[in-house]
Amino acid sequence: MFQPPRPPTVFLLSQGDEVITGQTVDTNAATLSEWLTELGFLVTRRVTVGDVMHDIVAAIAEGLNSADVLICTGGLGPTADDLTAEALGTVLGVPLVLHEPSLEHIQAIFTLIGRRMSDANRKQAMLPQGATPLQNNFGTAPGFSVESPRQGQAPAVGYFLPGVPREMKGMWAEHLKPDLIRRFSLSPGRLITFRCMGAPESQLEEIMRPFQGIDGVTVGFRAMSPEVQVKLRVRPDVTDERLIPLIAQVQAAIGKAVFGVDTGALEDVIVAALIERGETLATAESCTGGRLSAAITSVAGASAAFMEGACVYANEAKMRTCDVDAGALAQYGAVSEIVARQLAEGIRERAGTTYGLSTTGVAGPGGGTPEKPVGTVHVALATPQGTFHRQLRLGGDRDRITRYAAASALDLLRRHLQGVLHGDNL
Ligand code: ATP
Ligand code: MG
Repeated sequence: MFQPPRPPTVFLLSQGDEVITGQTVDTNAATLSEWLTELGFLVTRRVTVGDVMHDIVAAIAEGLNSADVLICTGGLGPTADDLTAEALGTVLGVPLVLHEPSLEHIQAIFTLIGRRMSDANRKQAMLPQGATPLQNNFGTAPGFSVESPRQGQAPAVGYFLPGVPREMKGMWAEHLKPDLIRRFSLSPGRLITFRCMGAPESQLEEIMRPFQGIDGVTVGFRAMSPEVQVKLRVRPDVTDERLIPLIAQVQAAIGKAVFGVDTGALEDVIVAALIERGETLATAESCTGGRLSAAITSVAGASAAFMEGACVYANEAKMRTCDVDAGALAQYGAVSEIVARQLAEGIRERAGTTYGLSTTGVAGPGGGTPEKPVGTVHVALATPQGTFHRQLRLGGDRDRITRYAAASALDLLRRHLQGVLHGDNL
């Protein structure tokens, strides 16, 4: 049987009091983990330490001894709590030395912004002897990399980057990624993402159980509420002859909930489909207050398909803009199937579009009644073939209810566009 080579390992170190106390969420580690895994590395450990010299020294030493790559973020700044360079010097047994080009780079930034450089900033140009500086084009502190010898193996490599995410990401793209690709022979394999709407993660897990044991394939889930992504991580030795039918099988098993395979978000898929079909959309929103139109207009090029969005919050507005019937409002209330239908039909009529999409519901926390508790939402889609409606019972707070309501309305339209609106399979 094919034995894939063991991927090179990475130890991630996040450094800083803010991170370890939870004031700053450690997005650096999450971002780097994802990028490294995509490249074909195996991230084996993630460690966080505060601004404590002894802890930083111990963590750097452990990283360089236990993995092929150490990536450390944070602690490169000018202040007294920025200890990384000194800690690395201690681990390697080397002094800090002034790196002139980095000092000039920092000096140039201060000249540019018309401020005097302090002695503290000078400290940022002090690097452990023998380290390779990594120029920071996104801030002052340079990063650096080192090689740390290991017995009987290629040296471990350590990268030290600023904590600020924007700077970290810039330096990843400019220095780390190309350097890592050059140093290691990586087999990234492939990642197939099934983007799903309308099926809960637990149900998808059950559907995917038969695929879990397939050789060379790992199944993963990512809940992005309400979207759930099913991910197939496929080992490089799996051929297309095996993979292509497998993708079709997964798609068939999940069924109508799959709105795309390796595509953009729900709104991207909808806008692309509308443009392809030469069709247009208008929205009338009550409880979602603009979330629908915001989602649609977040897509570049949406103007080719999206004509208008009305936020018709008051009954008055529903009647004036969408010609909702006063009698229906009085008899059934604004949160009702008939009003959702009239909103969708009314905006479609008014805008002269192919489709009209509407929402109306009780977002809470107040305003619920026994018949219409908080979370009761109606969405409707008016089309040339008639109007379709869904009633939802959503849980959670106001933000969650309105987010799910907007997504459900979009998914109603998506299912119509993909021809899977009818029938009961998911
Ligand atoms: P600076 O020059 O700004 O001092 P630095 O390299 O010393 O940069 P830190 O002082 O450790 O980095 O962190 C600077 C800022 O970057 C923090 O205030 C925090 O907002 C952000 N940051 C630090 N570490 C992380 C992390 N692991 N994940 C996300 N953000 C982080
Ligand atoms: Mg700092």
